[in-house]
Amino acid sequence: MTALPKLLLLATGGTIAGRASDVTSLNHYSAGVITAEELLQSLPQLKRLAAIEVEQIANVDSADLTFAHWQRLVTRLRDVLAADSDLAGVVITHGTNTLEETAWLLQLLIDDPRPVVLVGAMRPATALSADGPLNLFQAMQVAKAPESRGHGVLVVMDGWIHAAREVTKVATQGVGAFESSGIGPLGWVDDAGVHLPQSQSARPAPFSGLQLAEAWPQVAILHGCVEPPSALIPALLSAGVRGLVFTGTGAGQLSALERCALEDWPGPLPLMLRANRCGSGPVHRDEKFARLGLLPAGRLSPPKARVLLLLALMAGLDRAQLSNLI
Ligand code: ASP
Repeated sequence: MTALPKLLLLATGGTIAGRASDVTSLNHYSAGVITAEELLQSLPQLKRLAAIEVEQIANVDSADLTFAHWQRLVTRLRDVLAADSDLAGVVITHGTNTLEETAWLLQLLIDDPRPVVLVGAMRPATALSADGPLNLFQAMQVAKAPESRGHGVLVVMDGWIHAAREVTKVATQGVGAFESSGIGPLGWVDDAGVHLPQSQSARPAPFSGLQLAEAWPQVAILHGCVEPPSALIPALLSAGVRGLVFTGTGAGQLSALERCALEDWPGPLPLMLRANRCGSGPVHRDEKFARLGLLPAGRLSPPKARVLLLLALMAGLDRAQLSNLI
């Protein structure tokens, strides 16, 4: 009999580990309550799939994740991938609200061909027709599959396999709440296994050698709208924010009010990216913004542009180096 592949489950909480007082409660529940061990025990089918080790990194609602949690997760992941050559892959359970941010963070930091797969659930573990057990099973299927190697950090939800760079939560309820806007998912997983017809080899992780700082820089996201409050930009800059992401209107447009606030700022301006509030499509370079130091975020969503800025600041990149990464 051939030995089962070895997988590691790193649990961080979320609705997949959520508990409600009633099986019909889908919206009122506590996220990050059930432990990873309990999740595994409730899914005996996993025993025939892989030999699974478990570690509880955190057990929180993903809205409450902090840089300290990210630090712990990244450190553990790097250590275990470096130390254990028998490990076939890693699955990370995560709340869906910020899952795409963590997936993108790991994509930028982890350079290893073995699959790292993030998974969550839209219904608490106690719900009628909870989606977590099947999502977790399918995430394990993807993590152990040789076909999943070399495609970067993956997200498995509702049978679909998404790339960390593209995936976004697009709905507040319903099990099909994740999309890869514009390009679609990389593939899917079913009884026959893992199918990745759209996958490409992942680019090398640009920050694989970066030692994470104890204190992470502050990077704020500003949302574009009609007549944005003019006090916001100077207030953030006075507070020492080291990076700004603008969720611009249309293709990453800033208002004249915002441009003036940047022009009037007496000190040096921080690293800044222009993303868009449309949910898909690129932001291009525009000279009137470039002369203020604003770089286009390409197709990155505002939260993902912020993650990139956080790491760029930690790595001490300048504008030109940052722009090469987009
Ligand atoms: N509030 C939850 C969280 O992000 C939502 C979820 O897990 O789906 O942790």
